Amino acid sequence: MKVFAFCCAALLLVLFLLARRKAGAAAQELTHLRRESQERQQDMKEEHSLEIQHLLDALPHPFFSINGKGLITRCNLPARKIFRTREILNRPVRQIFLDADLISLLTEVLDSPEPCRRKLRLPPASVFSAEYGEKDSFWEMDLRPTGEGDDLEFQLIMRDITPGVHSDQVRQDFVANASHELRTPLSIISGYLENLTEEGGLEDRALAAKMLDTMVRHVTRINRIVEDMLVISRLESDDAAPLNLAPFKFAHCVQDIIERLDLVIAKQKARVEVDVPDFEIVGDQFYWTQILFNLVENALKQNPNMPLKVKIKASQDDEGNVTVRVSDNGIGIPGSDLPFIFKRFYRVEKHHSQTQVKGTGLGLSIVLRAVEAHRGTITATSTPGLKTTFTIKVPPLEVI
Ligand code: ADP
Repeated sequence: MKVFAFCCAALLLVLFLLARRKAGAAAQELTHLRRESQERQQDMKEEHSLEIQHLLDALPHPFFSINGKGLITRCNLPARKIFRTREILNRPVRQIFLDADLISLLTEVLDSPEPCRRKLRLPPASVFSAEYGEKDSFWEMDLRPTGEGDDLEFQLIMRDITPGVHSDQVRQDFVANASHELRTPLSIISGYLENLTEEGGLEDRALAAKMLDTMVRHVTRINRIVEDMLVISRLESDDAAPLNLAPFKFAHCVQDIIERLDLVIAKQKARVEVDVPDFEIVGDQFYWTQILFNLVENALKQNPNMPLKVKIKASQDDEGNVTVRVSDNGIGIPGSDLPFIFKRFYRVEKHHSQTQVKGTGLGLSIVLRAVEAHRGTITATSTPGLKTTFTIKVPPLEVI
């Protein structure tokens, strides 16, 4: 009996030990499975996060994720490019962005988490304006809160709208300047017309003739402004190929403008020296004529009372690059004005007497646009009274 009881106990013990080992193995298996699943989840999470990062990096705009404490938790490639080597992750957005307006907008949204879209103007000192040198940059800020409580995050997308704002500004300035330029001759003409149409306005024939003469000169000026504005707007049109490219002999173009200015040249007793070899250039002959005409006419126009010498020199190198120089020995352009002469409506006023009708101030901006349309560059140097030179360089172009 005792033996039987002992055997039963031993059997039970063996069974117990076996069951415990099995349970142990099962628990181990379970832990292993759990760890595997956690690792898989972690891998999936990382994979997902990487996919999101790839998508964000492909965005053309800087993107930042900011948590409820104001720390930057994620950013994309365009954002990193702005800050270059500077570490911005897990840093307070206030310390990173530094601009007062930008920070106040973020603080506002952090305090009341609502989606918001706003335009901001950032000064040249801001890291976001680095690309624009001394100019402000303009951004459209798109802020969207996600999650709640501890999971609260803000997604910030910053769209750079600077080029659009700048070109709107240029257009607005152009319209304002053009209106101003047209208003002056128009008001002179309407004033004279009023005088002439008054009773007895035509009695003093000499005075009337003088008024008519002035009116004709101002109408000519209005015409010139309108024509110049049309040329500029054609050169600036969105049309990808505003140029009519064709090969032509450069010397013919030079000859053409000299013939057109023949009367003025003779009247001023100016000497025009041409040093242009016989080569062909591919370009838009209409605009090349305009370029040369404006440069030579300027030299003549600015120096009416002196023995003027104008020189037109052109050359073409073996690669087809063309260099054109138009120089004169006239009164020249003061150094302080030189950086601005290609701007629309800019004039060195001192050159004009009170009785003279002013130029349009558009001549050199047309020259610049036309040279740029030929993928070239233009520079001006001047030693007043000695030598003023405009140098144009254009690469070879092909007829499309
Ligand atoms: P404008 O119609 O007044 O000639 P431009 O744009 O052609 O306008 O020229 C801008 C200014 O540059 C002129 O007002 C003039 O003062 C100056 N300028 C241009 N070319 C010359 C030159 N060859 N000599 C002296 N001044 C010049």
